[in-house]
Amino acid sequence: MLDTNVLDERLTALEGDLVELTQALVRIDTVNPYSGDRKAPGESKGQKYIEKYFKKMGATKIEVFEPKEGIYDRMGVRGPKERRFAGRPNVVARFKFKRPGPKFLFNGHMDTVGAEGMTIDPWSGELKNGRIWGRGSADQKGLLAAAVIAAKALLGFKDELCGELIVMSVVDEECNGAGAGTLACVERGIRADAGLLTDGFDYKLCREANGLITPEVFVQGESGHCCSPQDAVSAIDKTILVKMGIDRFIRARAKKHPTLPVNLGVMRSGVLPGTVPNDGYLALNVEYALEEADAAKPNGESVKQQLVAAIREEIEASGDAWLKEHPPRVELLKDFPPFSVPDKSRVVQDALAAAKEVVGPEVGFQRFIPTCDGGHLYLRGKIPMVFFGTAELAQCHTPHESVAVNDLMAALRVYARVAARQLAR
Ligand SMILES: [Zn+2]
Repeated sequence: MLDTNVLDERLTALEGDLVELTQALVRIDTVNPYSGDRKAPGESKGQKYIEKYFKKMGATKIEVFEPKEGIYDRMGVRGPKERRFAGRPNVVARFKFKRPGPKFLFNGHMDTVGAEGMTIDPWSGELKNGRIWGRGSADQKGLLAAAVIAAKALLGFKDELCGELIVMSVVDEECNGAGAGTLACVERGIRADAGLLTDGFDYKLCREANGLITPEVFVQGESGHCCSPQDAVSAIDKTILVKMGIDRFIRARAKKHPTLPVNLGVMRSGVLPGTVPNDGYLALNVEYALEEADAAKPNGESVKQQLVAAIREEIEASGDAWLKEHPPRVELLKDFPPFSVPDKSRVVQDALAAAKEVVGPEVGFQRFIPTCDGGHLYLRGKIPMVFFGTAELAQCHTPHESVAVNDLMAALRVYARVAARQLAR
């Protein structure tokens, strides 16, 4: 096995490279086109940069490919239908060692949430007080960079390692997508014996994730002129009643699953003061537990049915004749199924050993917030995955985002150790 003291020396020497790569990536605007920002160029410039970086490192093979239209339907995944991927390629690099052996992969995403309204310069990439500042520094360019630098370090151990190391820089993880970038890697047939998702935070080590559904609720009214509202049905009034049904659902969930959050994030109705509103719309995020999903085909259907039932009960209780006749339509915009990678998987054991060495003996596995990318690799790609990231969740998506270089170095140490254990000959 690779001597960890020698490895650590090599990693310490690469701290400058890690900082520089993180800074370079933060300085390139890769805001997801579906962020809501008026100007959102997407990932392409960042992906070009990382492709060149992989080339310089001596990658055996680099694949650059966009997710293909209709990917969610083909892969049987519930995701937003309007997403377009032209000009938004994934970049996947392979580094082959001389001797044949297992394959291990790192996955991270290039896109970021929007940068409008930030209180610092989103693209400065400035290094100040031991932190790198700017949009994407914490979520998750610093950790993507740590995976790249881990690969760079391991390439120096040609005699001690075997097999193949794969680094995926994917698109469209953020902004209400459903992981089309990673899903496209799976669709292309890219596989490994195990992998590590770098999009994590707070030093959490995970092998299990909760599920998440995003139900959309469509409420029907009947529009009319403002001078004769009595001849119309206000969708605003009906939407408020339906919202009370959602509250009923939230109360029931809180009682039964107090640790699983529900967030009603959107409620809208009406267009003009001169028109009685015709329809209403609500959308919420609901986390659900592994235990709530059908083991054979894990999905959030039963949780959606709880919501439908709660709205129906509220309508019954109110005696609203219109809604009884025109019940709201509930559809799932997204469903990230929950999953659990078996405890006995080698990568789970290797990651635990690596994290204990770097972080401390107190480290153990925790359940992760829902993740689409990790879930796709495990559930669709059948790749045993672990998740580890060190950026602070309290920094992600904030107007003053930054990441501590020390935290990135800790991630680098864990990533390199896990891959070294997996690829030891
Ligand atoms: Zn992320």
